[in-house]
Amino acid sequence: MTSCQLPNTLGVSCAADEVRDVADAEGVAAALADAEARGLPVTIVGGGSNIVPLARLPGMALRPRVRGFAFERLAADDWRVAAGAGETWHELVRAALGRGIAGLENLALIPGWVGAAPVQNIGAYGRELSEFVESVEVFDTCRRTVANLPAAACGFGYRDSLFKTTAPGRYVILRLNLRLRATTPAADYVDVATELARLGTRPTALAVAEAVVRVRRRKLPPRRLGNVGSFFKNPTLSAAQLDQVRGRIDIAAFPADADADEPRFKVSAARLIDSAGWKGVRHGAVEVWQRQPLVLVNRGGATGRQVLDLGHRIAADIAAKYGVLLELEPAVVGAD
Ligand code: NAP
Repeated sequence: MTSCQLPNTLGVSCAADEVRDVADAEGVAAALADAEARGLPVTIVGGGSNIVPLARLPGMALRPRVRGFAFERLAADDWRVAAGAGETWHELVRAALGRGIAGLENLALIPGWVGAAPVQNIGAYGRELSEFVESVEVFDTCRRTVANLPAAACGFGYRDSLFKTTAPGRYVILRLNLRLRATTPAADYVDVATELARLGTRPTALAVAEAVVRVRRRKLPPRRLGNVGSFFKNPTLSAAQLDQVRGRIDIAAFPADADADEPRFKVSAARLIDSAGWKGVRHGAVEVWQRQPLVLVNRGGATGRQVLDLGHRIAADIAAKYGVLLELEPAVVGAD
């Protein structure tokens, strides 16, 4: 069997036995039946923007490239929006804003396909996807049927969902069904507020999107440099952990998990990594991005393993210095 390269935004080499793009549920069913007949394991991947691929991915990499947007107006400021899993997330944000539909502006310029968005319940600058999800249309690989999972069944949490934690690999996401109603744009994050002040405009949905795009373009590496965006989740700490960190460095903290028994606080992983001296550090072809140390960059020729190794070194250092465990955001796929 000749192998093929698995597309990924980290720009590392990963040989899969087969990369299969499918356009709809029938395509998924046919691909699964084919893989089963040939004894190939199946890994569901999307645009490859949130994975660290190792050298080899045995079996079939399945890419659900369901296309198309549908916008249904229910009332003046109330829209139902359906988006195919294979569409680019930012194109969906643009298409909605272009029709005067607000809600997704804080999630502008997040890389990846629509189908990856519910997996980690993408969020940014005070909004997260789960606020807008009505349901997620999936192909259930156990029952071999299409199902429409209502938001309440998706197990959404902070950058988390059942697609990632409780049932990874069970559902192939086909389509995302959103409900976008009039919302007050969220504009209180320092970076966004500062950018809006610089633009000198009111925080309309379009202005917030523009501010978010500007902030992200300034902080993130250009697309030609391989990366997966944030390499670690921003951690949430107990009060005792926060005190321990604050004994070492000044760090802002924000209330998290309002429902938890004990209060918890979100802190910036980038701030921890920066304070520990990792900004700009280069190991071989892998570099900690100077303007956003949460991002690891492939300067050319790095392997997935090398990127992962640097990530592990950083996490071990942060654990030793501050007693905080950083969790990897991308999924590691394949083997060396
Ligand atoms: P940042 O703005 O430096 O924020 C770091 C941490 O502080 C985050 O946990 C953030 O919470 C929290 N925070 C900051 N200002 C806050 C406020 N006014 N109210 C409540 N919490 C606040 O983070 P960054 O790393 O540069 O990322 C920018 C934004 O993109 C953040 O919202 C981050 O969560 C988001 N992001 C999302 C993904 C993803 O969806 N996978 C990946 C990377 C970054 P929140 O995390 O709740 O915002």
